[in-house]
Amino acid sequence: MKKEIKRNLVNILIVDDLKDNLMALEGLLRRNDVEIFKAGSATEALEFMIDYEFALALIDVQMPVMNGFELAELMRGLKKTKNIPIIFVTATAKNQNLSFKGYDLGAVDFLPKPLDTFAVKSKVNIFIEIYQQKKEQEELLKKLKKTQEQMELSNDEAKRAKETAERANELKSTFLATMSHEIRTPLSAMLGFADLLRDAKLTVTERNNYIDVISRNGENLSVIINDVLDLSKVEAGHINFEFIDMDPRKIVADVILLLTEKANQKGLILEYCFDKLDVELIVSDPTRVRQVLINLVGNAIKFTQVGSIKVKCYLTVSKNLNKFSYKSVCFEISDTGIGISEIQKENIFELFTQADQTVTRRFGGTGLGLALSRKLARSLGGDVFIKKTNIGKGSTFLFEIKDQPERRHLKSGLLTEDIKKIAEPAKDALQGLRILIVDDSIDNQDLIFYYLTKFGASPDTADNGESGCQKALAGNFDIVFMDIQMPEMDGFTATKKLRAAGYQKPIIALTAHAMSEVSQKCLDAGYTAFLTKPINVKELVATVLEILC
Ligand code: ADP
Repeated sequence: MKKEIKRNLVNILIVDDLKDNLMALEGLLRRNDVEIFKAGSATEALEFMIDYEFALALIDVQMPVMNGFELAELMRGLKKTKNIPIIFVTATAKNQNLSFKGYDLGAVDFLPKPLDTFAVKSKVNIFIEIYQQKKEQEELLKKLKKTQEQMELSNDEAKRAKETAERANELKSTFLATMSHEIRTPLSAMLGFADLLRDAKLTVTERNNYIDVISRNGENLSVIINDVLDLSKVEAGHINFEFIDMDPRKIVADVILLLTEKANQKGLILEYCFDKLDVELIVSDPTRVRQVLINLVGNAIKFTQVGSIKVKCYLTVSKNLNKFSYKSVCFEISDTGIGISEIQKENIFELFTQADQTVTRRFGGTGLGLALSRKLARSLGGDVFIKKTNIGKGSTFLFEIKDQPERRHLKSGLLTEDIKKIAEPAKDALQGLRILIVDDSIDNQDLIFYYLTKFGASPDTADNGESGCQKALAGNFDIVFMDIQMPEMDGFTATKKLRAAGYQKPIIALTAHAMSEVSQKCLDAGYTAFLTKPINVKELVATVLEILC
């Protein structure tokens, strides 16, 4: 039967064919820190040695079947037992060395019979001490090895963290440099041309040209700012998707129409075709699909010097893991441009990454477009990736979206698509309406004031929440436009105050905050609706009419 292993005890094996000898030896060796194993034969001893670890074996030399020397010889041949020190117990102490030649002398000793108590105890004590020291050393070595491994591991981790931090820092610096360049360029054009407009001697054509430059650069600037905002919104899961019936063919045709002039200016051919896509409507977000397409086709134009850009659009039907089939629409955008290297193929989908700084310097851009496009495409149940590319020959990007009827938008308020469809309002659309504009920016006040008067309304203004409240309560306004961030009293507080005072007229938030959580906060504060700056005149008029009708 196997003995129960007691931790921290030193095991000693005694081997003798005579039971009395075993008992006598056991009596001599008994100590609190020692566990004694008694074996009546060489075979029994070997069995113990296979199951347990021993500090020492005291072996009788004269035994039947296999004597002590033969057992030692066997032990020397086995990996597990070859290092166990042996003390031979023998009555014939002469010539033992010769009979057992070649054995590791350091681990062998002899005790003559009859046993001398003092000699036995002191010899065994020495072996126990050696064993304990060996164990302690092994333990120490193990700990050292573990510490060394942990140190190596934490060194590796620290190295990786350092590399990640350095890369993030590098990306941030590149991003800041690129962004400031991309923002400064349109901004300086706008400021420069605004300055030129002061010249009283300008002809009407010159004046109109300058205004065109200012508004074109303003649009560019707002694209960049929208990209940055969209990115943070998709990352935080705050982007509002509007899933409605959409015709992919119409979106492709729109995007081509929008970008044809840009392509023509570079002498490039821009064409499109539909494959196996007759009259298919799918449910997705047309605004976001258009945004991704504009970016991909825009990039194709930007990175192509000669040749053409083709957009192919087709429908696929696949099965998901549950064997349900679903439809997807694929847009393939192929160009004959500079191509992308193997190494850069995945990198360019990372935030703020551009394939090559020299390329960027030549073509401009922020490195946000593809990262945002991929995030948007994935939010639409699809993806954007490079289908093929060849340096100097061109690239094909694949943009895929999934038909998602289950996400069809339940209408509430104006959808982006609805706004696009709004016709130019009639000149007297707001005739007779009294409107209060509460905004701390005089420029914005003036702009809204101008828009409202243009459509027949009679506006009044206030510079902050406090005076806005007083004017609203004192005057008889049909509607209030209330900015959010204002000095002295912000729009949330002012709106809450008005509602608490029983004010029931519509209050529309008009703000530069474009995050969706802000719109919810507005509604919670008592605002009736929410519009973002820069102001879209058609949306502004349509919202007023929708609220008042
Ligand atoms: P941006 O165009 O503003 O730099 P993007 O994220 O849209 O940012 O593109 C990242 C990079 O990917 C670009 O700077 C360019 O190096 C590479 N790239 C994108 N589209 C193409 C293309 N059609 N051909 C070659 N390179 C491209």
